[in-house]
Order: sequence, then C-alpha cells, then structure tokens
Amino acid sequence: MGVAPSKETLVGLSRPELAEKLAALGVPERQHRMRVAQLWSWIYVRGATDFDIMTDIAKELRGQLAEHFALTRPEIVTEQVSVDGTRKWLLRLHDGKEIETVYIPEEGRGTLCISSQIGCTLTCSFCHTGTQRLVRNLTASEIIGQIMLARDRIGDWPGAVPDDPSGLPQGDRKITNVVLMGMGEPLYNFDNVRDACAIVSDGEGLSISKRRITLSTSGIVPEIPRWGEEAGTMLAISLHAVRDELRNELVPINRKWPIKDLLDACRNYPGLSNAKRITFEYVMLKGLNDSVEDAKALVRLLAKIPAKINLIPFNPWPGSPYECSDWEQIEKFAEVVNRAGYASPVRSPRGRDIMAACGQLKSASIKQRASQRLASA
Ligand code: SAH
Ligand code: SF4
Repeated sequence: MGVAPSKETLVGLSRPELAEKLAALGVPERQHRMRVAQLWSWIYVRGATDFDIMTDIAKELRGQLAEHFALTRPEIVTEQVSVDGTRKWLLRLHDGKEIETVYIPEEGRGTLCISSQIGCTLTCSFCHTGTQRLVRNLTASEIIGQIMLARDRIGDWPGAVPDDPSGLPQGDRKITNVVLMGMGEPLYNFDNVRDACAIVSDGEGLSISKRRITLSTSGIVPEIPRWGEEAGTMLAISLHAVRDELRNELVPINRKWPIKDLLDACRNYPGLSNAKRITFEYVMLKGLNDSVEDAKALVRLLAKIPAKINLIPFNPWPGSPYECSDWEQIEKFAEVVNRAGYASPVRSPRGRDIMAACGQLKSASIKQRASQRLASA
C-alpha cells in the first residue's frame, strides 16, 4: 500500500551469494573473489551498516551497491533489560513477523540465545514457545541478523565507541558464545541453521568457533548424525525425563523417537569425546521429574556418554500448567548428579523478570490461514 519495497540486505549472505549479487550488478567475474573478500570483512568483521565506509571498494561500485542493496538488520521493536543485565529484543523481520533474541552477560563471557523459527511445530507442555503455532522457518540471513543486531546494540564491534547505546562497560560487551535455544526447533530448519552456523564460525568473519556454538534439540533423532557431520557444533539435548511415559507427555516428539533411540544417536554423535561433551538439559518440575530416584536414574542413563548435565529451574509463564521444584529439592537432585561427577549442574535462571528465561519466549506473530493470505493479497 504505497510502501516502497525495502532493499534486500547483504547481511547474512554467504560468499557465493555475495558473488551472485555482484554478478547481477555487472561486476566482472575475475573481480568476484577480491570484492567478496572485501565485503565479507566489512560486513562480518567490522559490522558495517553503510557502503560508504568501504573505502577500499571503488566509489562507483559502492554507489551501485547502495542503490540496490542494504546492510540492514532485523528491526528492534522493543528492548528490555533485566535487573540481572540480561537483555531481550523483540525483533521485526521484513514481512512483519516477530522473533525474540536474548543476550546473557556473564563474568568473562557473553551468551547470545537466538531463534531458529517463528513459533514451533512441537508442543512441549512446559514451553511457552510451544503454545505458538509455527509461522515459518527463519532464513540463514535472519538467523545471522540476530547476532549482527546484538553486536550493534552491545557495541561488540572493533573500534566501537565506549559510550555506545547499551551503556555497558567495555569488558562486558562480548558475544563469546551462541546458543540455538530461542524460539523453534533448529533441526526442523536444518539447512538454514547449518548455513548460518557456517557463516558465524567462519574464521575470517564473525569467528565464533563451532566449539562455542550449541544447538539444542528436543530430539529429532534422524537429524542428529547429519548435524554432527554437516555442522559439527556442540549439542544439547532437551531430555527432561528418564522414563518414556513421562517424556511422552512433556516432549511429545518422544512418542516418535523414544529415549533409547535418542541416547543411541547421542552415543554416536560425531566427534564426541570428554573434551566435546553433549549437554543434557533437564527442566525441574515440582513433583513430576524431580525425585532423588529420578536423579539416580538420570546418571545411570547417561553413564557411558561424555555428558554435562544442566538442571533448569522451570520458568513459569502465564497459564503454565507446572510449578518449579522447590529449591531444596533441586539441591537434593543436584547433589546426586554432583556426586556422579558432574560439576555445577544447575543453570541459574536469567532474565525471568522480562520473560527472557528458557522457554518463556513467544511472539505475537500468528500463522495466517491460506484464505486470509489470499484475501489480503
Ligand atoms: N527447541 C529446542 C530449543 C529451544 S528450547 C529444544 O527444545 O531443545 C531451549 C531449552 O529451554 C530447552 O531445553 C527447553 O526444553 C527449555 N525450556 C522450554 N520451556 C522451559 C521453561 N518454561 N522453563 C525452563 N526451561 C524451558
Ligand atoms: Fe519447541 Fe523446544 Fe519449546 Fe519444545 S521446548 S515446544 S521443541 S521450542
């Protein structure tokens, strides 16, 4: 309705995709390698948001680039800052759909929790995102855009000015780790998430190594070996129960791929070793999965797998059907896990006051019916 279509962003594109764009502008093929390397560095090392600063690229080409393309990131709808320093952004994508991204600063490191889908097709009963139907998969560019945007906001580019908008002290402005633990099931958006991880871990670009990228899955068993081979990041498994009967209820995908199949896939995860362990996430639900018996069963179950255990206090959301285990019970549970040799297993909830903690993310985007789409088109 009279709104000019916004220019396509180059942010989040791979090298071959950038070469395609240059070709479309008529840049001769013999120049592609060099021009792509320049763009790559400006975009992913320097965080350029403007073609004008790319002084090693001829002015004429810069002009052409600016005429046809942009370096935009997803647009911030709201930014919330928790009392513990956690930040949550509600981001709007080019089609108006919304996602959430969370930054968690910690002593000496900073973790960015990114989304892979708008909503989720799965319906884990304790997860807020699970109450939002899947709208669509994110593109690789939108997955990377979340990191670019976060770096902008916290001033995590070389040469960023000390009085950047975040007001964070310089040392605290660092995204050292990325976790695919936001909205969505990343293994159901395999190709885009894999392509995004390749760009994020590229040593000449954003340079966040695969050892510092963790993909969390609810257990899409057939995709686990493929992920190990094609992407090779760290892996986290949303286990949450030690018996199929209960896991069927909490993580319904378990009916398709039960605990035994899931753990077999984990045992065979490429590159698994004591230095590269799988994280098992276990949400603490009062009276359901938090007994000392459950804790013992958990360590038995994982006995032969190089593993870390991450106990997550349940984060409530409006209308959630569960309660978080009492702190005393979490401690008892953790003690069993600790004695079995797993260090500091409890994840401290971050950003609860702004609904930024695990499982609290949800955006208002809803899936339009085909008929509505047709009507508005
Ligand atoms: N879909 C993927 C990744 C996103 S969820 C997955 O399920 O693994 C990230 C983690 O938060 C998962 O371990 C998930 O089980 C957990 N989680 C979901 N809802 C939660 C809640 N309300 N409280 C605590 N953890 C929750
Ligand atoms: Fe989807 Fe993960 Fe939430 Fe389950 S826990 S509904 S897989 S986002």
